[in-house]
Amino acid sequence: MLTAIAVRGRAAHKAGAALEPFSFQRREPGEKDVVIDILFCGICHSDVHQARDEWGGASFPMVPGHEIVGKVSRVGSRVTRFKPGEAAGVGCFVDSCRTCPSCKEGLQQFCEGKLVFTYNSAYPDGSPTYGGYAERIVVDEDYAYKIAAGLPLDRVAPLLCAGITTYSPLRRWKAGKGTKVGVLGLGGLGHMAVQLAASMGAEVTLLSSSRAKEADAKRLGAAEFACTSDPRAVSLHARRFDLMIDTVSAPHPINDYLGCLARDGTMVLVGAPAEPLEVGAHALVLKRRQLAGSLIGGLAETQEMLDYCASHKIGAEVEVIPASKIDEAFDRIVKGDVRYRFVVDAGTI
Ligand code: NAP
Ligand code: ZN
Ligand code: ZN
Repeated sequence: MLTAIAVRGRAAHKAGAALEPFSFQRREPGEKDVVIDILFCGICHSDVHQARDEWGGASFPMVPGHEIVGKVSRVGSRVTRFKPGEAAGVGCFVDSCRTCPSCKEGLQQFCEGKLVFTYNSAYPDGSPTYGGYAERIVVDEDYAYKIAAGLPLDRVAPLLCAGITTYSPLRRWKAGKGTKVGVLGLGGLGHMAVQLAASMGAEVTLLSSSRAKEADAKRLGAAEFACTSDPRAVSLHARRFDLMIDTVSAPHPINDYLGCLARDGTMVLVGAPAEPLEVGAHALVLKRRQLAGSLIGGLAETQEMLDYCASHKIGAEVEVIPASKIDEAFDRIVKGDVRYRFVVDAGTI
């Protein structure tokens, strides 16, 4: 019988409850496991959606957090990719079935067997998973990422979700030189989408409900900015974009933004509001537009994105906070008062 590792973290004990100190156990590392002493964990809007059970089906106590970076402190006897002392990252999932067609194609996020999310999920034996608002995590090395030197680790943490969630659709729908990309919403995901799309050579327009974000949008790489609270500003971009990345976390009038797509353009939803969006058929039909969705990215693509960001010196803009301020950060995220990612200093857990 394996012993377990005692870990302190922060947990919500019921939907919408404050995050409180919480002690729990992680498995003793098996031969393919690494133990990562967490340094930083980003706060994704999905953490808020889940801790407040806005998507339904949440399990408590919940230790959120899936933008994890830290230092490897122990490795199992058959670990080959990591050594103690090295930086490592963990994203939104910590295991999958490894045998289904999606896993075999490197699209583990769409595993048709058992996808094990980093938190608010369960291992195949039924025990709950706990996320990165914690001192350490134990993970199979196949589901951990290498972190190249060059960027401060607090700025790397948000890449594990916000980075890959925007990188993946930009690659799949071929953002690059000669393409016009619209990014809707300048929050955690949006500010990564702008930087990444601009670095790939696309001409980027940022559409935001907050006029005050114009200077930041341009500094991050947007050529143009439109304030969505002014319908005229949006209509100036009618039939313009080849690709739009919609990162908005709350209900919004998507037909207005579909109208900004050129003929054959694609709107990719990455934002996941709890409520359905109302789509008018004409907004799609008249210009053969496409409405798509995208979910994080697979293991290989996430590693590719981390290496891309290291070589292009792309990181998140972060506000590092102590664990005692997570509740306040959740409230500020919902109000749109985040520039542009809160990151928990795990040393304060
Ligand atoms: P965030 O930092 O809160 O950013 C969301 C942005 O949406 C805000 O900054 C704001 O931008 C805009 N917004 C929010 N409420 C709005 C409203 N009522 N009307 C218009 N605009 C509004 O959140 P995030 O961490 O980037 O996450 C965004 C969404 O993506 C969340 O729903 C999250 O769950 C989801 N997500 C999905 C995936 C995936 O794999 N598909 C991965 C991670 C996160 P402006 O102020 O610029 O308007
Ligand atoms: Zn996330
Ligand atoms: Zn699978």
